Amino acid sequence: MLTSLRRIIQEVNSVKHLTEALSLIVKRVAHSMETDVCSIYMMDPATQRFVLSATMGLNEELCGKVSLGLDEGLVGLVGMREEPINLERADTHPRFQFLAGLGEEPFNAFLGVPIIHQRRILGVLVVQQTATRRFDESEEAFLVTLSAQLAGVIAHAEASGALRIYEAGETPQMRTNAKFSGIGAMRGTAIGTAVVASPQAVLEAVPSKPAQDIKAELEIFAIAIDAVRLDIWQIREKLTGQLRPEERALFDVYLGMLNDNALGNEVQAKIRQGEWAQGALASVMLDHVRTFEMMDDAYLRERAVDVKDLGRRVLSQMQNADQSEREYPEKTILVGEELTASMLGEVPKDKLVGIISVRGSGNSHLAIMARAMGIPTVMGAMDLPYAQLDGHQLIIDGYSGTVYANPGEEILAHFLHVLEDEQHQLSALFALRDLPCETPDGKRIELVVNTGLNSDVSRSIDHGAEGVGLYRTEMPFMIRERFPSEEEQRRIYREHLAAFAPNQVTMRTLDIGGDKALPYFPIEEENPFLGWRGIRVTLDHPEIFLVQLRAMMRANEGFGNLRIMLPMISNVPELDEALELFNRCYEELLEEGFDIEKPKIGVMIEVPAAVYQARQLAHRVDFISVGSNDLTQYLLAVDRNNARVADLYHQFHPAVLQALLKIASDTRAEGKSLSICGEIAGDPGAAILLMAMGYSTLSMSANNLPRVKSVLRQVSIKEAEKLLHQVLELEDSMDVQRCIDQLIRQLGLSRMFQSSAEIA
Ligand code: PEP
Ligand code: MG
Repeated sequence: MLTSLRRIIQEVNSVKHLTEALSLIVKRVAHSMETDVCSIYMMDPATQRFVLSATMGLNEELCGKVSLGLDEGLVGLVGMREEPINLERADTHPRFQFLAGLGEEPFNAFLGVPIIHQRRILGVLVVQQTATRRFDESEEAFLVTLSAQLAGVIAHAEASGALRIYEAGETPQMRTNAKFSGIGAMRGTAIGTAVVASPQAVLEAVPSKPAQDIKAELEIFAIAIDAVRLDIWQIREKLTGQLRPEERALFDVYLGMLNDNALGNEVQAKIRQGEWAQGALASVMLDHVRTFEMMDDAYLRERAVDVKDLGRRVLSQMQNADQSEREYPEKTILVGEELTASMLGEVPKDKLVGIISVRGSGNSHLAIMARAMGIPTVMGAMDLPYAQLDGHQLIIDGYSGTVYANPGEEILAHFLHVLEDEQHQLSALFALRDLPCETPDGKRIELVVNTGLNSDVSRSIDHGAEGVGLYRTEMPFMIRERFPSEEEQRRIYREHLAAFAPNQVTMRTLDIGGDKALPYFPIEEENPFLGWRGIRVTLDHPEIFLVQLRAMMRANEGFGNLRIMLPMISNVPELDEALELFNRCYEELLEEGFDIEKPKIGVMIEVPAAVYQARQLAHRVDFISVGSNDLTQYLLAVDRNNARVADLYHQFHPAVLQALLKIASDTRAEGKSLSICGEIAGDPGAAILLMAMGYSTLSMSANNLPRVKSVLRQVSIKEAEKLLHQVLELEDSMDVQRCIDQLIRQLGLSRMFQSSAEIA
């Protein structure tokens, strides 16, 4: 059962057209379940009817022509109830509806299961048999399992289809406005051309796009093949003597596969049909990999790995050659399955207008970076057929998390208008730059920024930052090939301190692990967010920790505006140990003759345990800063990086609000200063609540700062306290959200100001 399940999924996965996928499914299911009929009825969202879309065993000519509503027939009943219906004799059921010409008369047994993707009903999968019998339990379980797995594949094929209608050569007026949803991770609108970024040597991630010049693509392929052939030949020669003849033969098989009359020939044919070389290679190689994977013989099945390896080698050659020649459109929207910081770095800054990542969520570190850069971003666009998007015109609506591909004139005109409007509003906000963040009744709030790269500095100052509340030091570690030396770090930190002096700069010690990996210090774990991260790593490696502390303190020489902050503290001994190293480091520097001030030191509260020990922690340090991004993920048990559970990641969850309130009152009781540096602080609505709770310093990405300032300058502390009082009574984060949005509306502010908690 499991094998046939896997095979069906694999096979269906390899076809790109929805109709092809559906007819393959009905054939394979009928065959493996040995039923007389298998049909799929797809839900047409416009009419809300299930349309017969593919069948094996019934009248195929009626595909696309007959349909059933939610209150019609057994198919409608399966769809409405969203559960399987298994009947011995379909025609005796009161809901049975006879469809003329379909040819259902001889069939008695009926089993229908819904196809559901992300809570949305896509269609109904039905098997029928002449025998009068109930399908048994294992058959029902098989069909349910298959349907659950096929749902994702069908949704994907459906999304690709929406895109292709335009590709087929329709006129621009008939562009389909293919629309995809994800999570709006950075507010704003972008209109531009998609550039698909793919990781090195991953065949599955290669985008499909038309060849600009077929001859040139054939040449690119030929050069790559020659290079790989030479490589393999050299490895084979080097290993001669160490290999047994049968192992050496494997190299010959590899070399043979590359010949013109084998795989090479197929790739060339695909290029001649108009596909670019990388796309042609990926599609041919993956077809062969799948064929091998489906073989019954275990030895041959394993050869799939070899074929894939060969494909990756050739691809890698082509990608290396391509890298240096890549030209980016004037308005580039970078699209990828899982974009990384270095992929963003490759696009010239003045050309990058938007970012779309299939994976990740509103508070993934990529999203945080995008916010720091001020680039409209959609994360977790899970059904986006990203591999086919290269070169297409896209619109990003970063408020709702929607992506439009090949937009029609009307949609385009609408978003051009929105874009213009946004630019006006932003310039109005900039007028506030030099005004203090003070409420109408005189409450002063300090607005500082989160930074990571030195390039953030000028943007922060332009936006009116009063200092840095969180400098993520892992950023300069991430863009190198080894740990930076003490002197290298000192120089980077000093530049940052100098740029903001005399305002304070809060530097966080290295917080790697979780979703932040250093290429030269890999941490492989089953559950990295609960594993070796933040202070846990640096306490285990005092040599790394001490060098960083020394570099920070030395960088502060002559300035005196440094504060140091410790991430991921989850117990008191951890803090005591870190403080001991901190004190030791300071003493040693004094002994070495450095004339430095002892910086203030603080703790981040971002682990639930620390909330309950806030007083004990605050007692030991100078300040507390709340990392609400992690605190929310750990309190709610919702991975901040996983788009599938993004709708459960609520920064306004009553439990999160209670935690924030407790931290504020405990820190106050210890007489220590308090700030918050998670993304929630950059949300105008949340900022009102935080102010009322007693957070007097809010740290956020520079782009959110003018918006927050504008809102806080319009809300009195009295109104803010009233709002806090109201929301603390509520039991559901959505109600909290609504309550805040209502106040924002009353203030007459547009959606640019509305709460973004739902985006995370
Ligand atoms: C946080 O967790 O809220 C935080 C500010 O740190 P980071 O987002 O870097 O994990
Ligand atoms: Mg954190």
